[in-house]
Amino acid sequence: MADLTTWLDKAAAFRPETRLFVDGDYTDAAAGLTFTDVSPRDGSVIAEVASADAEDVDRAVRAARRAFDSGVWRDMPPRERKRILLRFAELIRENTESLALAETLDVGKPIAESVRVDVAGAANCLQWYAEAIDKVYDEIAPTGPDALALVTREPLGVVAAVVPWNYPMIIASWKIAPALATGNSVILKPAEQSPLSALLLARLGAEAGLPPGVFNVVPGLGERAGQALGRHPDVDKIAFTGSAEVGRLLLRYAGESNGKAVSIEAGGKSPHLVLADVADLKAVAEAVAWGIFYNAGQTCNAGSRLVVDEAIKDELLESVLRVTATFQVGDPLDPATTMGAIVDERQLAKILGYVGIGRDEGASVAFGGNQIRTDSGGYFVEPTVLDNVRNETRVAQEEIFGPVLTTTTFRGTDEGVRIANETRYGLAAAVWTRDVTAAHQISRRLRAGTVWVNTFDASDVITPFGGFKDSGTGRDKSLHALDGYTGLKTTWINLR
Ligand code: NAD
Repeated sequence: MADLTTWLDKAAAFRPETRLFVDGDYTDAAAGLTFTDVSPRDGSVIAEVASADAEDVDRAVRAARRAFDSGVWRDMPPRERKRILLRFAELIRENTESLALAETLDVGKPIAESVRVDVAGAANCLQWYAEAIDKVYDEIAPTGPDALALVTREPLGVVAAVVPWNYPMIIASWKIAPALATGNSVILKPAEQSPLSALLLARLGAEAGLPPGVFNVVPGLGERAGQALGRHPDVDKIAFTGSAEVGRLLLRYAGESNGKAVSIEAGGKSPHLVLADVADLKAVAEAVAWGIFYNAGQTCNAGSRLVVDEAIKDELLESVLRVTATFQVGDPLDPATTMGAIVDERQLAKILGYVGIGRDEGASVAFGGNQIRTDSGGYFVEPTVLDNVRNETRVAQEEIFGPVLTTTTFRGTDEGVRIANETRYGLAAAVWTRDVTAAHQISRRLRAGTVWVNTFDASDVITPFGGFKDSGTGRDKSLHALDGYTGLKTTWINLR
């Protein structure tokens, strides 16, 4: 890994693509609109980026529809489609440096993580779905001998992916890989805070051989470009990740336009449920601290609530605080940094506001709570631990989306499970115990799309990811994600 000076030089020389990518070419927005892309690392302007409006979205949808109807992609032999997507994954790897810079400058995440997790994760995801293309079979229904009934999957048509800023490339890849693998045309709308990696991906996809119109990228404001996609009568599906509130807006747009399919992956308030018999408190403390401070807590499944048996609370908290103190908050371009910036000024104010709310609600600040590195011009906050938090208070119920852990105690497993489940969200949860039977029983009772036992945030493209309740309805990753981009067709053949 290059050192800080090298990354600073690379950042100074970085010239990102800033135009929309429609029908195989970069182009300015029709009305010439732009928005300002600011780096949370130092508050500097990275670029003015083309801002798609309804007219641009319509152009992208028409290009995507033309490509779909022509069959140029969906009717291409599966092995050929696989070859193109594998090449796409390889080009991502070859362009790791530029893509990682785009992520780090846009989002403020540590460069080492952008390289190791974000870029590598997106490439792996594309490769995995590429490899699946010629391995997934359709079905024959168990009819009598006088008929043959085929149940086949068909691509939906034009899929729009509307994604957030916290893992721009990874979350985009979770949508575009299965959507492209199943033969759809795709329009990607990155978040306005993080458009750069998506715009670079567009070029790599074209270089890999995706025909014009099959993969389009339209950066723009949520209420303009996002809404235009949500309301477009010729979009067949919106694959959304973001806040529960915007997810509901997209459902409304769908209902008020063409009833398009909408899948939602929204936020979380994921608990660590730690039982008193846990084997290794140090291991729990490590997992708890990393589970909330990784990506500065801007992770949908961040383990933001520590729900611990009162018998071991003091000892565990002490251990968590020791790990917390080791986080290196610093310049995201410094490979030694383990916690980078908060994505923008608004998010920073929101996080600091929640620390104040926590205090007012009776919590004590056991660690951090302050803005730091103000001289940098960027947006940084200390890793923060709020202690003595009642689960019904706002800091335990609302998604802070920052590096803020709350600590709540319970007496007896039933109370622990009740507290863990008492949230509007249901994305993920962890159970820590030595008792295998208790682990299984509790896992079943936890209303969460993913339950980890004696670990946290273990994941891979091979398993589904998504939530219950306000955390959404969709499932990304694994072969199950293919269902979200295909419709079933029955072909009944008379053999009499
Ligand atoms: P957001 O909902 O504000 O924005 C997400 C996307 O929606 C962006 O592209 C944005 O431009 C667009 N958008 C905003 N307003 C819109 C509108 N009116 N119409 C159409 N599109 C609109 O979320 P965010 O702040 O970018 O991301 C943070 C949220 O995402 C958190 O709640 C987090 O938990 C969630 N998230 C969930 C997952 C998951 O997989 N479950 C993963 C990452 C983030």
